[in-house]
Amino acid sequence: MTDDVVDVAVVGAGAAGLTSAIVAAETLAQDGTPGRVLLLDGAKQIEAKILVSGGGRCNVTHEVITPKDFFGNRNIIRNILAAFSVERTIAWFTSLGVDLKREPTGKLFPVTDDARTVLTALLSRARHTGAIIRPGHRVTEIATSRAGFLVRHSHGTTQASRVMLATGGQSLPRTGSDGFGYRLACGLGHRVTPTVPALVPLVLDHSMFHATLSGLSHDVELTSVADGREVDRRTGSLLWTHFGISGPVVMDASRFWTLATNRGAQVDLYGNFVPSRTAEELKEWFVAQAAEHPRRSLTRTLSMLVSDRFAESLCLHCSCDPQELTAQVVRRDRERLLSTLMRFRFPIERDRGWNFAEVTTGGVPLEEINYRTMESKLVSGLYLIGEMLDCDGRIGGFNFQWAWATGWLAGQSAARSLLAAKLPPYSA
Ligand SMILES: Cc1cc2nc3c(=O)[nH]c(=O)nc-3n(C[C@H](O)[C@H](O)[C@H](O)COP(=O)(O)OP(=O)(O)OC[C@H]3O[C@@H](n4cnc5c(N)ncnc54)[C@H](O)[C@@H]3O)c2cc1C
Repeated sequence: MTDDVVDVAVVGAGAAGLTSAIVAAETLAQDGTPGRVLLLDGAKQIEAKILVSGGGRCNVTHEVITPKDFFGNRNIIRNILAAFSVERTIAWFTSLGVDLKREPTGKLFPVTDDARTVLTALLSRARHTGAIIRPGHRVTEIATSRAGFLVRHSHGTTQASRVMLATGGQSLPRTGSDGFGYRLACGLGHRVTPTVPALVPLVLDHSMFHATLSGLSHDVELTSVADGREVDRRTGSLLWTHFGISGPVVMDASRFWTLATNRGAQVDLYGNFVPSRTAEELKEWFVAQAAEHPRRSLTRTLSMLVSDRFAESLCLHCSCDPQELTAQVVRRDRERLLSTLMRFRFPIERDRGWNFAEVTTGGVPLEEINYRTMESKLVSGLYLIGEMLDCDGRIGGFNFQWAWATGWLAGQSAARSLLAAKLPPYSA
């Protein structure tokens, strides 16, 4: 059993928790009296999520970060992001010994292309500051006490003046983020908005042709419609897989499907595979093709617009013969084909679930946090950071940026409040 008395207890040693611990310990040390900072994590292996992130390369951040890249209360998000800009993030990582490189998409990765570089740097800086890291210490309850907080965990109790709640969301629960942190937050009086998987692939009805296209990716404009109202429209790369659809545009759109489905709405996802043309232009183009190349097969004609594998699947899906001569395609078939090409309804069966989701939509409302400090408005001395808050970013390094920014703000604020509390009273 351990019975620690510490200045700052960080619950969850993920991206946000590690950042807050490092910044808190460094800020306290600037005063000449190193503070006691303790990180408790339920997982045996610390930050497995960083290691699997970005396909094992860890997409640390993005060259341009705006509130529009996030979902949640954008006014609050704007203020939080402004406190720790991309430039500061890059400089901070350089100071940790992690140089970042920019890819053509604007995503920033470590130059080593190895997520372990990021994890090792964070862990060694945390240890260097004197912060103590305790894996395998699952926190079961946090209670307020006269001196601050009593943090009960699998090996005993820790007394802390300040507590950082950095338990993440529910995505990839095998890494330790299983949603229990929400119960800890509720136990302290916070609310939690409904949580659903986001940045998650979508499973299609087995009667669809997706499996035959597995591995193929191409651009599409996706439109999400909930109860007859358009709720999202975005363009990007879609990947066909053995179970359904994935790829950046699908991952980004998925939160609209999971959120609306969760509240019982009828949600439809439509794909436009030729977004640069109007229906009239597409019809004119097809009629011209049929006149110029009457003996060309239907698949070959369509493959001037989309990949030939997709063109063939689409023909079969629309009950058309892929080898039929273009000039012989009857008007009804042509109309069906072209309208499907522009408004293809994906028959979604379900999302792929928490084990395949990259983030969580929903969480502790941002309105319950002081955005200047990340301190709870309900419990003084409690800070809430990272994915457990009701904010999720699109794919591209935005979710880590949220973790670094909220962790940095909370670490600095908690340390400053401790230092301020230790100041001798002003005497004239
Ligand atoms: C496969 C995958 C790839 C990703 N790739 C990227 C990417 O490249 N770029 C990007 O920006 N984002 C990426 N993300 C999202 C990003 O990883 C998360 O948004 C980010 O890690 C959240 O950080 P966090 O510190 O808030 O939570 P987490 O990283 O989830 O950390 C929470 C920690 O709290 C611990 N914990 C939970 N409950 C308890 C408890 N009761 N007691 C003690 N400890 C507890 C957990 O063990 C965990 O270590 C990816 C996510 C996944 C799943």
